[in-house]
Amino acid sequence: MQILLTGMVLSATVQLVCAAPAPSNFLSDFFDSFKREESTEVTTPSISQESTANTAFAPQTSPFFPDFELAMSSPTEEAVRYDTQGKALSRKSLDLKKYPEPWTLPDIYSPQVQAVIKVIDWNLVPDAPVRTFNGEGSINFDGYDSSKDKDCWWSASNCVSPKVDYIPDDLYTCSRKGEWGLTFDDGPFNVRESGELYATQENPFAEPELYNFLEKNNLKSNLFYIGSNVAYYPAAAKRAFDDGHYICSHTWSHPPMTTLTNAEVVAELYWTLRAIKEATGITPRCWRPPQGDVDDRVRAIAWQMGMHTILWDKDTEDWALQAPGGGSLSPSQVDKKFSKWLREAKSQTHGTIVLQHELNSATIRMAEKWLPKIKSNFKVVPASACNDVTQPYWEQDVVYPAIH
Ligand SMILES: [Zn+2]
Repeated sequence: MQILLTGMVLSATVQLVCAAPAPSNFLSDFFDSFKREESTEVTTPSISQESTANTAFAPQTSPFFPDFELAMSSPTEEAVRYDTQGKALSRKSLDLKKYPEPWTLPDIYSPQVQAVIKVIDWNLVPDAPVRTFNGEGSINFDGYDSSKDKDCWWSASNCVSPKVDYIPDDLYTCSRKGEWGLTFDDGPFNVRESGELYATQENPFAEPELYNFLEKNNLKSNLFYIGSNVAYYPAAAKRAFDDGHYICSHTWSHPPMTTLTNAEVVAELYWTLRAIKEATGITPRCWRPPQGDVDDRVRAIAWQMGMHTILWDKDTEDWALQAPGGGSLSPSQVDKKFSKWLREAKSQTHGTIVLQHELNSATIRMAEKWLPKIKSNFKVVPASACNDVTQPYWEQDVVYPAIH
C-alpha cells in the first residue's frame, strides 16, 4: 500500500509540474480523497471559478505536496494521533527528519521546493527588488519612494491594494460596524521542556491555555501559525482546528518576507503549509506576513501558492510586551489601547481586524484580561468570517458558518 501511494504521489507531482496551472478537476479529485469523515455534502463555490474571478489571468493553484506520502493517505486519520482534546495534549512532534531545521530558512534546493517553484508562473510575479537590512537589523527603505509606492510595500506605506491587477486587496479590516475581527499570530504557543529557560513562568500560558479560554468564552479566531511551531507541537494545531478556529500560515521561520529571494519565499510558505497539512489535514488559503512585511512580489507568490494576504488595522502591540520573545513595553501601554478602543466602540464607523499574539505569558494574559470586556461591546468574530470567508481551506468540504 505504501509503495502504491508513493507512486501516486510521484505521478501527481509529474502532472502538476508539467502542466501549470494544474487542471482543476485533477486537483479537486486530489483533494476529494481527504474528505473528513464527519463532513457533509455542501454546495461550494468552485475554487477555479473564484480564481478566475479574482485573478483575471493568473493561476491560483491549490497547493500540493510533492513526494509527501502522508498527503495521499488520509491526513485526517493520521492527524487523529494528535487529537487529544479534553486531555493533556500530546507532545509528540511531527517527524522532524522530513522537515527543514525548525526556525531556519529552508533549503531552496530541496526537491519539494523545486517542484513548487516549477509550477509558479514567474512572468506574473513582479520584479521588485529583494529588500535589505540596515546595520541594526531593521528593514532598509533607502531609495524606495513610498509616495509612489510602486510595489505596494506595506512596511513602507501601509498599502493594502496591490498594484498587480490579478491580486485581490488584502483583508485588513471588517467593514461592518461593531465587528471585531479576532486574530492571534505566532502559535501554536509551545510548551517548554522542564528546566528550559522560563519554563516555569511560561508553560502555564502555553497551549492549550488560550484555546481553553476561547472555548470557555465561545470565541473563535484566525490563528496564524508558524510552521516550526506546528512541527514541534502538532497536537495544539489539531486541537485548534477541531475547535473551529481558522488556521492560516505565518511562514516557517518568521523572517521579514520582502528580504527573501523568490525561491526563499516559496520555501518558507511551502513548509508551513505542509506542516499544517500534516498536523490538521487542511490546507490554508490565507496567510499573514511576519511584521506585515509584504509587497506585490511576495503577495504574487503567496497568491499563486493558494493564499490571500490578511493584515490588520488595529495593532495591540502585545508583541512588544516584556516577556520571552517580546520587548520592553509595559502592560499599561497595551491596556491604554484596549481602553481607547472600548471608549470608541459606539462611534465606530466600521469594524476592525485586531493583531494579537499567542507568543508568551504576557500576550495571553492580555487576551484573557480584555476579551471578555471586548466581547460585551463588540461582535467578536474571526477576521476571515467578518470578510465573509466560509471556506478558508482548499479542502472544499470544510465549511464554516456564515455570520451575515
Ligand atoms: Zn508573527
